[in-house]
Amino acid sequence: MKTAVIGYPRVGTLRELKFATEKYFEGVITRAELQEAAARLRKTHWQTQKENGIDFIPSNDFSFYDNMLDTAVLFNIVPQRYRELGLDSLDEYFAMARGYQGARGDVKALALKKWFNTNYHYIVPEIEDDTEISLVGTKPFDEFIEAKNLGIDTKPVIIGAFTFLKLARTAGNKPLDDFAADIIKTYAKILNNFNLLGAEWVQFDEPALVMDLTADDIGFFNKIYSEILAAKSNIRVLLQTYFGDIRDCYQEAVSLPFDGIGLDFIEGKKSLELVKRSGFPADKTLFAGVVNGKNIWRNNYRLTLDIINELKKTGAAIVLNTSCSLLYVPYTLKNEAALSDGFKKHFAFAEEKLAELAELKMITACDNPAGILEFSQNTRLFQSCRLSPNESVRAAVAALSREDFIRRPAFEEREKLQKAEFNLPLLPTTTIGSFPQTAEVKTNRSNYKNGRITLEEYTRFNKEKIAECVALQEKIGLDVLVHGEFERNDMVEYFGENLEGFLFTEKAWVQSYGARCVKPPIIWGDISRPRPITVDYIVYAQSLTGKCVKGMLTGPVTILNWSFPREDISLRECAFQIALAIRAEVLDLEANGIRIIQIDEAALREKLPLRKSDWYSEYLDWAIPAFRLVHSGVKPQTQIHTHMCYSEFGDIIREIDEMDADVITFEASRSDLAIISALKDCGFKTEVGPGVYDIHSPRIPTVDEIKAELYKILQNIPREKLWVNPDCGLKTRGNAETVPSLENLVAAAREVREALR
Ligand code: GLN
Ligand code: ZN
Repeated sequence: MKTAVIGYPRVGTLRELKFATEKYFEGVITRAELQEAAARLRKTHWQTQKENGIDFIPSNDFSFYDNMLDTAVLFNIVPQRYRELGLDSLDEYFAMARGYQGARGDVKALALKKWFNTNYHYIVPEIEDDTEISLVGTKPFDEFIEAKNLGIDTKPVIIGAFTFLKLARTAGNKPLDDFAADIIKTYAKILNNFNLLGAEWVQFDEPALVMDLTADDIGFFNKIYSEILAAKSNIRVLLQTYFGDIRDCYQEAVSLPFDGIGLDFIEGKKSLELVKRSGFPADKTLFAGVVNGKNIWRNNYRLTLDIINELKKTGAAIVLNTSCSLLYVPYTLKNEAALSDGFKKHFAFAEEKLAELAELKMITACDNPAGILEFSQNTRLFQSCRLSPNESVRAAVAALSREDFIRRPAFEEREKLQKAEFNLPLLPTTTIGSFPQTAEVKTNRSNYKNGRITLEEYTRFNKEKIAECVALQEKIGLDVLVHGEFERNDMVEYFGENLEGFLFTEKAWVQSYGARCVKPPIIWGDISRPRPITVDYIVYAQSLTGKCVKGMLTGPVTILNWSFPREDISLRECAFQIALAIRAEVLDLEANGIRIIQIDEAALREKLPLRKSDWYSEYLDWAIPAFRLVHSGVKPQTQIHTHMCYSEFGDIIREIDEMDADVITFEASRSDLAIISALKDCGFKTEVGPGVYDIHSPRIPTVDEIKAELYKILQNIPREKLWVNPDCGLKTRGNAETVPSLENLVAAAREVREALR
């Protein structure tokens, strides 16, 4: 059996690509130097895969920013406003990715969206009415030749036509269908070119096939590929699917003249069943995604072997594959010097996954796997007891009853009590939590981490900042204050570090958007809270003012979704463990006199399953209860807020209401307020604070602008239910724009309040 990789991470083990592109943007290095840095990374990645014995090594999986954008540019899909800047091709590419502000004009970036159910973001291609789609770029061919010149034969990877058209958007009047014929021609041309270059295989990535498909979708898929494959000559074409199974189009996929089909046996719950029930053509190659491209735990060889043995019965050639690109896992354990082998032996990052593929290749080639050292070692690893459970945590989760998820009294009653309790003005003003993380705030944290200052010095500084922040908010005239979050680097990492059960890495970066990376913690064991986390700082902030200070916490679903989860217990169990820990924090804050508590769920929408039929059974069914569990124990008068960084929850509005918070703030300023009328239509009960200005930009909103926004919102939201706030935390902003922006926000709220009297 051969081995394959769908795609490899590309920013470099030490984030070389991120640093090189940043230097290029700053003008510190030249274009040629940037290109050289990129070529070095590609070479390293190909060689690493080759040294690990991978048979099908991908090329064209590299990108300076994003593969969807690469594909758009390859097809000449560049909106006019970027062309008009008259930049050369690389800078035009970056202008589409990040926007351009300079001597040649002022153009915003193309839209950025989450790539399926991952935390990677892609650029949404925009096709204009007069866009002439054709093969104008050479990137995939150049990189194929580049690898070949290094002595490495690769399998070029391109986002497939179906997925590309599903994710692209049209900017004019023409429907997408009008462009299909040209797209098809372009893909056929790509196959032809690769054939001439002597490529053996081409991989078309089609993750969109794992979504719920309509009959039209299936017809379209059939049509596209019948035409593309009609012209394919000698080259072999792999239809690569991932992030789920292709139950809606399996029959069509195996009937079309593909030479190979890649199925995901990790996230594809029905993949094995599909093969068993409907068979798999013996004349095609089955690329079996058995090594998890999304999580960092070692592969269980015995279970993998069971799958492979089933697949062998089809008589088809089988290739051992990753379940998706390895883009979603960090590079290598080699850089984790601080993590002991006792932990590390349970993990496989990208490079270690290559070794797993090679070991599986050896094991599957042998009649008696039990006799192979690697196999028996792996079996022992999974038989050994990785950790002893925290019995009290397990018992607490097991003892949860229906009542624990219900806050009493019901919302309407609480709302009345709270109106009397807080006596806030109409349209109360507040912020989302963090205030600008200035250089001195960051230096204070790093000084403490590096042992340059004592805990006392560190805390004293933070308290000074809190006092300044409270005074500033009072001066500006905000109604509900915050402490400013100066002690937090990241909303998940901060809680992870203060809870029992998390592991942290040094260099385990994963790409999020562009060359930006995140470093998700690993959930290693049962989660518990050894001591209060936020109480000291919040209580201190509250002691400085007669106004209410919101306690500020991250919710269980977000903590879980932005970590690498365990695989030995369910997500539900894990979410409830975290919920109980955060619940204890909520109750401690309340016991210490904090009357408003915000529980952020910035990532709640992110892991909503791709298929609607799984929304409840796999996710909402525990995610919403986990949030409810956190706050169900507070007094009726204690006000619970939550915050979400997006407003694309149109399809789960009822569930958001079911979280049963008292107030929810969310981003709305960039999404044309469509969500607001949706809230009205469904009779949303929770009070709302749709962000009235965009904190992602340094622009200062004017009073009139904010007023106009508020009047628009008031057409759909009753005045008693409306809060006034920015659309997210202010930590990435500077004070220079934050102070006037908030002053304008308060002035706008006051004027509208007056007018409503
Ligand atoms: N409370 C957090 C902050 O203000 C929320 C951050 C977020 O939503 N991403 O920074
Ligand atoms: Zn936010």
